[in-house]
Amino acid sequence: MTNIKLHPRLDNGIQDYPEVEGFGGGTLTCLCESNKVEVKVSSQTLHNHACGCSQCWKPEDARFSLVAVVSRETVEVINNEDKLEVVDETAAIQRHYCRDCGAHMYGRIENKNHAFYGLDFIHTELSEEKGWSAPKFAAFVSSVIETGTPASKMADVRKELNNLGLPTYDTLSPELMDLIATKAAELKGTLQV
Ligand SMILES: [Zn+2]
Ligand SMILES: [Zn+2]
Repeated sequence: MTNIKLHPRLDNGIQDYPEVEGFGGGTLTCLCESNKVEVKVSSQTLHNHACGCSQCWKPEDARFSLVAVVSRETVEVINNEDKLEVVDETAAIQRHYCRDCGAHMYGRIENKNHAFYGLDFIHTELSEEKGWSAPKFAAFVSSVIETGTPASKMADVRKELNNLGLPTYDTLSPELMDLIATKAAELKGTLQV
């Protein structure tokens, strides 16, 4: 329990995420009352994390989003695709959101030179299935200051995330930063193996 609100799915502890081995995915549905956009994801997610950036979709009042990646081949819009629009066509991640309720259904990278090309970003809280991978770290933590968290609260925010077992980073996790640098080295021709 915490008096520092992070996200409704984190504030009661990580037990809200009963990760199941061999879990094969589920269906993400938008928040509309009817004519819901539905996106079928046929795999478990990777790198699920709390993200403090201002771009990721999050529920109202949440300080962090919860976002994970899956291979783009496993993502398929199965209902009401016509309600989807892209938040910002110029952004690296094309976030496809429901124009009626605002939920981001998937974020896709179309630039083949991007380190994360081939991966889609999804929010598994939009699925009713249980078994999705649990968040493992918190990224872009300092960025929550930009969306209204006082800097004086940051020590408490980081402590709360650590109490949940989530290491905190002000960029992405070292593993993901290494992937980005590896791609940059590859493009520069300086990649050593
Ligand atoms: Zn909707
Ligand atoms: Zn983010």
